[in-house]
Amino acid sequence: MTRAFLTFLLMVAVATPVTAAERSAPITLVIHGGAGTITRAEMTPELEAEYRAALELSLRTGYERLKDGRSAVDAVEASIRVLENSPLFNAGKGAVFTHEGTNELDAAIMDGRTMMAGAVAGITIIRNPISAARAVLEKSPHVILIGRGAEVFATAQGLDIVDPSYFWTEKRWKQLQKALVDEKREGAIGRLPDPPDPKYGTVGAVALDRQGNLAAGTSTGGTTNKRFGRVGDAPIVGAGTYASNDSCAVSATGHGEFFIRYTVARDIAARMEFGGATVAEAADQVVMKKLVEAGGTGGVIALDRKGRFAMPFNTSGMYRGSIGPDGIPHVKIYADER
Ligand code: ASP
Repeated sequence: MTRAFLTFLLMVAVATPVTAAERSAPITLVIHGGAGTITRAEMTPELEAEYRAALELSLRTGYERLKDGRSAVDAVEASIRVLENSPLFNAGKGAVFTHEGTNELDAAIMDGRTMMAGAVAGITIIRNPISAARAVLEKSPHVILIGRGAEVFATAQGLDIVDPSYFWTEKRWKQLQKALVDEKREGAIGRLPDPPDPKYGTVGAVALDRQGNLAAGTSTGGTTNKRFGRVGDAPIVGAGTYASNDSCAVSATGHGEFFIRYTVARDIAARMEFGGATVAEAADQVVMKKLVEAGGTGGVIALDRKGRFAMPFNTSGMYRGSIGPDGIPHVKIYADER
């Protein structure tokens, strides 16, 4: 080989920091809108169409970002904002009520490339909690900000601020009234019913961008009738939200106390990283076996760097969807649509 040719090879190598495989990563976005007792018997065709349309819009919105070469973090935030702005889901506009009749929201976002994460918890005036979580990730040295501190920070960052009454919806108010009656009847004052709410409705997204980077995000109002100050799994890194380019991106929905104690998202990633499991095997082992044995209801979406994903849940349904390089959205609700 001539010296000139070697120099040429060296120049090519230096000018090409990403590998060919990374450049052609199969852009993928997977979302969920909560797991729970979701059956055809309880659904009207109109409501089902509304859910499917909202999930599809979320998928298309995130996909546009990925197609334009934007980051997985961008896609996750954009698709979650769509679901937060819909009253259908227990996040943002459709958040459930605490025992005291207030709305306290939690959210987190994590970048699998940098292992940076941002989260907010117990917030009451930020229209899009996922954007506040992203601001914590990018504009602060911290990982989690709660309550007033998170709100002051988000206000200073110029995020949309709303009156707490923005989060009031009749459907969620009625769910709280029913939960209060049930709680009195069952004499379980001070405890969450187990499982806490048959319809969870948290939202989440995981994405793989063109550069081969993963990201995950989750946003929720928590569980109906939770005590004020209660924080669920969604904003806890490794519980309800996790992303690492070494393994996968995960977003969870379900009975948060279980997802925290069993570090569900990180457990799935660790089974891939150390145990050699595929994303489907790892997610299945945790959601369909470990959590079932423990009595923890819910589900996850999990995505690896090759664009392979899994959406296991141990309830009768989970609002969910995926979109791959072909740009065709796939939306599912019931268990038999697997
Ligand atoms: N995991 C959420 C929480 O416990 C609830 C949900 O998924 O709807 O806060």
